[in-house]
Amino acid sequence: MSKPFRVWEDVYAIGGPEISHPADCCVYLVDAGDLVLIDCGVGESTDQLIGNIVGLGFAPEKLRAVIVTHAHIDHIGALSRLQQDFGTEVVAHELESRAIESGKGVGAEFYGVSYHPCRVDLRLEKTEESLILGRHEFKTIHIPGHTPGSIAVFVDIAGKRVLFGQDVHGPYYQQWGADPYQARESLQKLVDLGADILCEGHFGIYQPASEVERYILVYLHQLEGLR
Ligand SMILES: [Zn+2]
Ligand SMILES: [Zn+2]
Repeated sequence: MSKPFRVWEDVYAIGGPEISHPADCCVYLVDAGDLVLIDCGVGESTDQLIGNIVGLGFAPEKLRAVIVTHAHIDHIGALSRLQQDFGTEVVAHELESRAIESGKGVGAEFYGVSYHPCRVDLRLEKTEESLILGRHEFKTIHIPGHTPGSIAVFVDIAGKRVLFGQDVHGPYYQQWGADPYQARESLQKLVDLGADILCEGHFGIYQPASEVERYILVYLHQLEGLR
């Protein structure tokens, strides 16, 4: 296992398959004065995620929100615990909220873990929304494809655009409820953002901007054969 690390000014990787638990998605922390997480892992490593936050010198009591990119168990497992322990608000797209609140369709059975449903405090409904949390503005973009209510998040910090784009790689299997046609448009939206740093959901960090574009285009090109 490797240690949590700073990605860029105010942005940290605090969890992921190499950092917290093999089944965790990559978990990112943004220090906005208040603390904001992008996703929170499969739920088996919550103590360690909290320990990693403390280890970086932050108080977990300041965890104001988790912005959920989509309702798969490896991205949402710690939500209920964080909500209970710290009053952390759960922010998710409306189309993912039912799964988060009911536990149906989150895929916990595939991971052999149990999911504890929790309340979604803020439901995103628009194609793009802006959330001011502490000193940073988080912009969310609806990117349906991998799931109907998938979102990406970006923040402009100290001259760089940091994009949290989880599960850019898919998978985009229709039998699992994905829509590869929508995914194609969504990935193009991500390319058009021109991000300098991509914080991806399972494979870590890509930079500079040319590498971000190259990475997303690999998956976009795989979808271009669709008719
Ligand atoms: Zn997923
Ligand atoms: Zn994932």
